[in-house]
Amino acid sequence: DNRKKTVKDYIRTIVDFPHEGIMFRDVTTLFADARGFRICIDQLLHPYAGERIDKVVGLEARGFIIGGAIAHQLSVGFVPIRKKGKLPGATLTQAYTLEYGEAVMEVHDDAIQPGEKVLVVDDLLATGGTCEAGIRLIERMGGDIVGCAFIIDLPDLGGRRKLEALGMDVHVLCE
Ligand code: 5GP
Repeated sequence: DNRKKTVKDYIRTIVDFPHEGIMFRDVTTLFADARGFRICIDQLLHPYAGERIDKVVGLEARGFIIGGAIAHQLSVGFVPIRKKGKLPGATLTQAYTLEYGEAVMEVHDDAIQPGEKVLVVDDLLATGGTCEAGIRLIERMGGDIVGCAFIIDLPDLGGRRKLEALGMDVHVLCE
């Protein structure tokens, strides 16, 4: 079989991580492969060719890896959205609900200027809660979101519908 590998072929599944019953989709095997990482970044960017993008926002933590590469490719700035307590400067904070309890995401309050066109990236879309918190932070700064791009969507968890209901253009490479 000399068929060229797709992005999905480079992703590894680890059973019972981080706890029993979870099938963790591990993208480190995709990132570690020269061709895998290259086609992943190219395919994440593909729908946005010719569109104005002023900033790339990456969601902690694997969103930083792809977001950095995408920002470099576009010659634009990169902005991290992090879990609470990691960013040193003045921040905006946004709480969101998890399966059990609440989490908080933060961004530096001067990271995006009103009217800037923003591309949001992360490795995986599950319930969409993490990305929704990111969207709210970007919109509170007056950013205009061009799209939300993910390597993987877990369609049963409804994240895509949640983000589309917020008016987002959602781009995923595999399910
Ligand atoms: P959501 O907020 O959409 O429910 O969860 C998405 C977040 O959880 C993303 O930041 C993603 O990195 C992380 N995540 C949840 N499950 C997995 C998984 O199986 N593999 C990876 N790589 N990330 C996951």
